[in-house]
Amino acid sequence: MGSLFLNESAFQNLIGGVGLFNRRNQEEVEKVETKVWVCTSDDCNCWVRDNFKSSEVPACPICESEMEQTTRVIEILHNPSSAI
Ligand SMILES: [Zn+2]
Repeated sequence: MGSLFLNESAFQNLIGGVGLFNRRNQEEVEKVETKVWVCTSDDCNCWVRDNFKSSEVPACPICESEMEQTTRVIEILHNPSSAI
């Protein structure tokens, strides 16, 4: 059970748009305009950060639709363990 939760949590970091992890934080959040890929399906609001895409033109990890490149102003991801 514990490992399942960890996996879901990692998945949430990977795909920003689902919004389940809405931490209320008193600290100011640094945001930056970031290249992202958004799902083209009307029924799906998924998006991924460009540096997490698995191929040149990624498919949506939720519904496997095509994705299109755009930019969004999103939180800077502080993740020193995956800086490569
Ligand atoms: Zn999708």
